[in-house]
Amino acid sequence: ASGYSLLRDPRHNKGLAFTERERDTHYLRGLLPPAVLSQELQEKKLMNSIRQYQVPLQKYTALMELEERNERLFYKLLIDNVEELLPVVYTPTVGEACQKYGSIFRRPQGVYISLKEKGKILEVLRNWPERSIQVIVVTDGERILGLGDLGCQGMGIPVGKLALYTALGGIRPSACLPITIDVGTNNEQLLKDEFYIGLRQRRATGKEYAELLHEFMSAVKQNYGEKVVIQFEDFANHNAFELLAKYGTTHLVFNDDIQGTASVVLAGVVAALKLIGGKLADHSFLFLGAGEAGTGIAELIALEMSKQTKSPVEETRKKIWLVDSKGLIVNSRKDSLQHFKKPWAHEHEPVNNLLDAVKAIKPTVLIGSSGVGRTFTKEVIEAMASFNEKPLIMALSNPTSQSECTAEEAYTWTQGSAIFASGSPFDPFEYNGKVFVPGQSNNAYIFPGFGLGLVISGAIRVHDDMLLAASEALAGQVTKENFDKGLIYPPFSNIRKISAEIAANVAAKAYELGLATRLPRPENLVKYAESCMYTPVYRTYR
Ligand code: NAP
Ligand code: MN
Repeated sequence: ASGYSLLRDPRHNKGLAFTERERDTHYLRGLLPPAVLSQELQEKKLMNSIRQYQVPLQKYTALMELEERNERLFYKLLIDNVEELLPVVYTPTVGEACQKYGSIFRRPQGVYISLKEKGKILEVLRNWPERSIQVIVVTDGERILGLGDLGCQGMGIPVGKLALYTALGGIRPSACLPITIDVGTNNEQLLKDEFYIGLRQRRATGKEYAELLHEFMSAVKQNYGEKVVIQFEDFANHNAFELLAKYGTTHLVFNDDIQGTASVVLAGVVAALKLIGGKLADHSFLFLGAGEAGTGIAELIALEMSKQTKSPVEETRKKIWLVDSKGLIVNSRKDSLQHFKKPWAHEHEPVNNLLDAVKAIKPTVLIGSSGVGRTFTKEVIEAMASFNEKPLIMALSNPTSQSECTAEEAYTWTQGSAIFASGSPFDPFEYNGKVFVPGQSNNAYIFPGFGLGLVISGAIRVHDDMLLAASEALAGQVTKENFDKGLIYPPFSNIRKISAEIAANVAAKAYELGLATRLPRPENLVKYAESCMYTPVYRTYR
């Protein structure tokens, strides 16, 4: 290839890091200024310039531009500065990016499949330049973070998630494929927006929706085979549960909002027991929000309890209560409940708000999965502290604006007794001379390692026991030093090591269950996982 095209190909471009020799052999002389910079120096320069931006969205665009210019440098920045840059490429900034995707859109970064492509989805997939794909993240944009229906602009989410698959989980960038399925949007503002990039119509539902999704799922299997991970992301809950149930037996599907969230929260709860005391089954749980996240977490906690106590899951579910927009889920509401809520309709008189539910149930653990900010009020948190020595409070909703409470609120209203974690990051908070470091209960801990585990074992199906295996691996990575700061998750700075541990545990489970196809089984799965991980160091061109 000519030097000029080398500079314009983000997979190969090294900018000023091309050596003298490479400049000679690859026709680059004169196309670059004379200085030769190391990748480290390039990184330093870019981090300096990114830190100058005050507006998070500017940091986001700067990073996306870097990805389009020099992929390896982008990933090096992300990996080396993960705690600083995660909030930019992921929640909360990615949410704002999606809201404004129409106006910041420059170049497509994934595949768009709309109703216009019906009947041609296989051809569409073949337009994508890469043939060997290991992970697909797909959304239909109907429930982006806690921001609602963003239609086609939801593309920011699969793009961001896959950047994390590479940076945190070591999946090669070329093996990642972000996809947005556009069946329209019910967001009036977008429908009126002259810059909107999606189909200008209301959402297709029912048969029309199901047929497009079915064609898509079939085309994926036909084009990429059986071992491609298909991660469903930010679908509205009726579709999410249905798609997972429908394709769970024929494809390697994983719903991050239901299963990934469940795994990361279970890990946090299990780790928190070291601080609070007791076994999992000694605790009682109350959720605000009974959707994908809430019922997914509840089910996995009940499953783990049932394995630990050797009692049926029907029994352990009774330790777990959920509140939805209509109040506590109780037996008398059973007939009108969506099917995924029915298992949680326990015997109790109706309670129509969270505060009364907290007082009635007296849970030891309070989990927010409602997508509605500021719903853990002072009264709610104070009630939790009144009957728990160390209440565990998890405000999972994203982005930051939707968090059920802030770290500051959780610590001050409990006078420093709360163990707190949240979906979007909060800064450490000083209270009565003590610094509290809130943990980030975010599925970014799980899905990259989980996906890596599926890929390296050649798994063909996801099994719930793999989710438990991932939780166990994550909880096992919390150190005494972390606990001393009140943390129930390890710091993100170690995430690649954590991902390798998770991958190994997930892969081990896949082998145990007979779902792995990569044979023979590597002896040391942690080492094997690490050896499979992509690193962003520049290659030398000869
Ligand atoms: P979902 O399936 O739409 O569920 C939302 C649930 O909240 C529903 O049960 C809904 O009640 C309930 N709800 C809504 N408003 C309420 C209110 N004012 N009072 C009480 N309950 C209310 O959404 P989801 O997928 O579970 O996601 C929810 C949130 O979790 C989002 O903000 C998302 O960003 C966040 N999340 C975080 C993570 C993480 O890693 N931290 C992972 C996944 C999701 P009805 O059923 O009655 O409508
Ligand atoms: Mn999500």
